[in-house]
Amino acid sequence: MEKVNQLPKTIKLFNFAKKEVNLHGECKISNMPRVAEIAKNDNDSVEVDLSFHLYNGKTPCVKGIMDLKVVLDCQRCLDDLEINLNIPFKLAFVKHENQAVEIDNSYEIYHVGEFEALETIDLMTDEILLSIPMIPSHNFECGLKFDQEKIVEEVRKHPFDVLKNLK
Ligand SMILES: [Zn+2]
Repeated sequence: MEKVNQLPKTIKLFNFAKKEVNLHGECKISNMPRVAEIAKNDNDSVEVDLSFHLYNGKTPCVKGIMDLKVVLDCQRCLDDLEINLNIPFKLAFVKHENQAVEIDNSYEIYHVGEFEALETIDLMTDEILLSIPMIPSHNFECGLKFDQEKIVEEVRKHPFDVLKNLK
């Protein structure tokens, strides 16, 4: 059964923060192109909670958490690598550098420039990509498979060369 996506497409930063909006919902990985590009489990969903508030009465902020599983290519053996991510974040949406100075350092500064709104998917994607390791690999010894596959591939491409060498 298809789960209903209850998340709004767009986050109106000031508006949501002023009303202290709380959101809970799910989003399929296949709906987040930049994540789907590296994750093989497109059909799985990301669960997200977002709570908005205003900082000092003027800066929109969000506290959130995301839960998801990503299946990546191990960069050592190229086999599937499954990683469970639990991503808490606390962001302050600022327009100018001098606005960022007023925010305490438990917040990550998210520069929005003149934009009053953000795509929900963009916000989620940015936080997910920051949490995925740069070079994902198994936490055990793996690694021979790639070379073996290359040899098999060579044999397939040039079967007669291999026979020649046998003579
Ligand atoms: Zn591996």
